[in-house]
Amino acid sequence: MADIKKGDPCEIINARGTFTPLGVSRSPAEVQDAVGKALGAYFCLEELQQAASAHLVRFSGAEAGTVVHCAAAAVTLAVAACITMGDAEAIARLPEAEGLPRRVLLPASHNVNYGQPIEQAVRLAGGQPDLVGTEARCDLNDLADAMSQDEICCLLLVSSRLTRGPALDITAAVALARSRNIPVIIDGAAQDMRVGHLVGTGADLVIFSGQKYLSGPTAGLVVGSSAAVAAVRAQEKGIGRGMKASKEAIAGTIAALKARAILDLETWQAAQHEKLERFLGEANALSAVNAFSEPDPTGLPFARAVLEIAPPFNAVETIRKLQSLSPPVFVMDHLVHFNKLVLEITSLRNDEIDTILASLEHVLRE
Ligand SMILES: *Cc1c(COP(=O)(O)O)cnc(C)c1O
Repeated sequence: MADIKKGDPCEIINARGTFTPLGVSRSPAEVQDAVGKALGAYFCLEELQQAASAHLVRFSGAEAGTVVHCAAAAVTLAVAACITMGDAEAIARLPEAEGLPRRVLLPASHNVNYGQPIEQAVRLAGGQPDLVGTEARCDLNDLADAMSQDEICCLLLVSSRLTRGPALDITAAVALARSRNIPVIIDGAAQDMRVGHLVGTGADLVIFSGQKYLSGPTAGLVVGSSAAVAAVRAQEKGIGRGMKASKEAIAGTIAALKARAILDLETWQAAQHEKLERFLGEANALSAVNAFSEPDPTGLPFARAVLEIAPPFNAVETIRKLQSLSPPVFVMDHLVHFNKLVLEITSLRNDEIDTILASLEHVLRE
């Protein structure tokens, strides 16, 4: 990375999507304002949480909601809620959970790593992850078998492009658990645009990241039944102390939820489509590139760009060169072995898309 002045953060072009090591997302002005104003003010935190809950209820259709530090913290706190069910003595004892129901069923294919293996977020609460099925496959029969054992605390499911194998029918998995009175947590971190579907499964708690597609400050949003959300909040005097949301995160989250509430999804989708089509058209004008679109693998309402790189060039070298430019351009590299780059351009401005096109032309010059 050239031209970095000492102490200056280096701006990059991020076509990797909501990727934590690259700053996740950019917040609109109203969210930035809300965060800035909150930093200069006192609040009654309880009132701020109650306002956030009201906005989370409108956003999700769930009974209640709360804001915690981030989605990873939310997984830990949701498991803690299921282990302790709001019992003050148990909350004070965590993560020591001996004698409490603490086996957490987790499909092995959902044991994702978003920077930390999710099973570690379970263990932080005192939970014992019980991986069901194999990494390559977990189906409803595997879950039904696992549910016949004792001491089950909850079922943890993940909705993310990081899961492996054939997709587990989440709605059916939730129904199965609920028929056996087993609480269900869904980690849907980047799936806030599918909130209706995930909450509609009937899961007790559903988790989203405030800073991914919602474009708020770093925050974990937890929505669900009033009792389950109360049990999450009860952890504030226990292990949740180190996982609390700041006043500015709660205020910024409220602003982001307000922006989402007035978003016209159809207009937004049409704008994304137009942006992507222009990018694909211009990328296809490069002789070493075959560009096409691919739907989001998790069902989010927008597509991504796939660029197939022709010899004498290859995807590995192209990615390396794009990252060494000024500004550096980052793309997804999971299909690099198929000689493909994948780009998510929803969050990019037109001038940034122009820079990506010029960068591609530069690195793919004969
Ligand atoms: C990003 C992500 C997380 C972690 O989110 P943070 O808010 O950064 O803690 C957890 N689970 C999944 C599936 C994710 O994609």
